[in-house]
Amino acid sequence: MKTIEQISELFKNTKNTRSQLIISGPCSAETEEQVMQTATELKKLNKVHVFRAGIWKPRTLPGKFEGVGNVGLEWLRNVKNELHLPVTTEVATAKHVYEALKFGIDILWIGARTTTTPFGVQEIADALKGTDIPVLIKNPISPDMDLWIGAIERIKNAGLTKVGVIHRGFSTWEKTKYRNNPHWQIAIELKRRFPDLLMICDPSHITGNKDLIYEVAQKSVDFNFGGLMIESHINPCEALSDKEQQLTPNELNDIIERLHISTENFGNIPVNQKITEIRGEIDLIDELLIDVLGKRMQLSEKIGMYKRDNKLSILQINRWNEIMQTRKDKAEKLGLSGNFIENIFKEIHIESINIQAKVLNQ
Ligand code: PEP
Ligand code: MN
Repeated sequence: MKTIEQISELFKNTKNTRSQLIISGPCSAETEEQVMQTATELKKLNKVHVFRAGIWKPRTLPGKFEGVGNVGLEWLRNVKNELHLPVTTEVATAKHVYEALKFGIDILWIGARTTTTPFGVQEIADALKGTDIPVLIKNPISPDMDLWIGAIERIKNAGLTKVGVIHRGFSTWEKTKYRNNPHWQIAIELKRRFPDLLMICDPSHITGNKDLIYEVAQKSVDFNFGGLMIESHINPCEALSDKEQQLTPNELNDIIERLHISTENFGNIPVNQKITEIRGEIDLIDELLIDVLGKRMQLSEKIGMYKRDNKLSILQINRWNEIMQTRKDKAEKLGLSGNFIENIFKEIHIESINIQAKVLNQ
């Protein structure tokens, strides 16, 4: 098991770290017994590094269980002191921050609803000034990467150096098999822009269904995320919130075992040789793609000048239809998805038209 100091190191540089930080515990702290029993069982697994429990619960609809409040912080403090398990809880206001710090909570997380509101995040950031507690920021409810980045910046600007993120999926009107749509591309793009950022996946809130947690957790491991936050409860059927998605500690154990991940070593294990080789090839192909796209856009500029000089319109719909059809046919013959190629060519076309329009207005 790892100390909070070792865990904190993970927030500073996650590059090449292939092991997973595992955070687990109930959606909500409900009673002293439920908290202590869940934590005791999780501790026995020897796979969970941090114990989580919500004390103040932001419920979408009023009239539901909204958390036990401050008394729950005492229970978390007991878990920390008696079981030597670092603890984390959600903070949504400055008052929550002061209370959590007073009770020695080790890591704070900002919930998805809070990340959506810059005033809320700023209030938390101001309350955190002068501390350097690790903070995990969940993605906002809406699929808006800038809101997520804004929250990261607000917390970092307050002087905190151990900032990580939690990908918990995004709300959508159309219901899919998941409670929240993962939109993996947003999390992956964030990782691309901030390669050192510790990114954890929360498959419990993505799926909303304990039977789907494994597949999403595995996917996040495949995408090289740095950890998992998975809800667990000593008796999920009796849970006061998020009953359908909470696992028993034993079910959690099974899932972690099936993932075949190292949960003990936080060291910097270099990614294996084979992956490095394949990545090298991918890098090369991507460079070629960019070169080729650059050449294609030079031709757009050239044809733009020709159209301008000969007073032709930029958009020639027959030519465009012909391009789309021939490219799609060719792609499908090669076993590529026609839809994929169509989307790429739509983007290429937009860029080409923009370049031609610029030439025309020169
Ligand atoms: C939670 O972790 O219990 C929670 C409320 O999550 P989210 O902010 O992702 O909805
Ligand atoms: Mn929950």
